[in-house]
Amino acid sequence: MMTDEVKVDKIPTHVPSLEDVTKVLKEGLAKNFTNVEVSVVDCPDLTQPPFHLSSEGICGNARLADIGGPGFLLPLVQRDKIFKFKEIAKLCELPNAFMIGAGAGPAHIVGINSELMNNIKYAADGKVINNAWISKLNMQTGECILEKLNAEEFCLMGNFLVSDGKPGKVIEVKASKRHGADDFSRSIKMSLRAHYGDKPVALGGVFLVEKGKTYTHIMDDFSKTPLTSQEMVDNWLKFFTMDPTLICVGELVSHDPGYNLRDEHWHCFSMHGQGGHYHYDTTPEEVEYRGYFVIADSIYRVDQPPKPPAS
Ligand SMILES: [Zn+2]
Repeated sequence: MMTDEVKVDKIPTHVPSLEDVTKVLKEGLAKNFTNVEVSVVDCPDLTQPPFHLSSEGICGNARLADIGGPGFLLPLVQRDKIFKFKEIAKLCELPNAFMIGAGAGPAHIVGINSELMNNIKYAADGKVINNAWISKLNMQTGECILEKLNAEEFCLMGNFLVSDGKPGKVIEVKASKRHGADDFSRSIKMSLRAHYGDKPVALGGVFLVEKGKTYTHIMDDFSKTPLTSQEMVDNWLKFFTMDPTLICVGELVSHDPGYNLRDEHWHCFSMHGQGGHYHYDTTPEEVEYRGYFVIADSIYRVDQPPKPPAS
């Protein structure tokens, strides 16, 4: 991928104050969770357990990158859709970025399709701190394999929070004991949507599932037959119920102003060999979430797939 060839749209977002968002989330999450605490805090050192991220914080020039999308995967994979983390940082006008989030792993390096948990920092001194992970299927047993990604590339799609990776003020959200239908990230997204309407609010960061089980998927290797319906996609994906503590990285957007944005995308990793695409918690009585988020000042829409032909 050449930087000067790929299409990038810079989409401005609505940036309310952290205090304003805190109030909105406190009220919104109470509809789904019995115990909710939301406050503005100094970002904890995210390089430390239980976070294991590549930079201390998620502050400074926070923006989202929404790269490619399922349109490059379905109905059949486009194997030439390969992206480099460093190029994405440059396209987001932040060459020394810290990036975290969800995507598809580099199949040309991993050997098969995989889930990507991006977690890489390009330091100003040229040092690269790469703690990104991928999870893939053991093609013999169907089990999950979680491993470090020793490469700086990915495929097909990515939804990343891009920032300077500095310490600073963040929104801390703690929620436990779910009584409503919406899980943690959907609750956050829907709370923002209900309050801010068609003003797009973009949020990114990290959250932990500290207690309770989580429903996830790992993509199977690329299908040789076209996947033309949601039912076919669901049969192709492999679903898992994973154990705490899961570290989820990604982003969400409250409103799509017409760029075919992924409005919510979180992938998780762990220190116990499990990881993949986060869907929702499955033990509402037990579940405990804790997250740290920032509000992004823009979204960089990179290589938006063409709209599928109307059928
Ligand atoms: Zn995913």
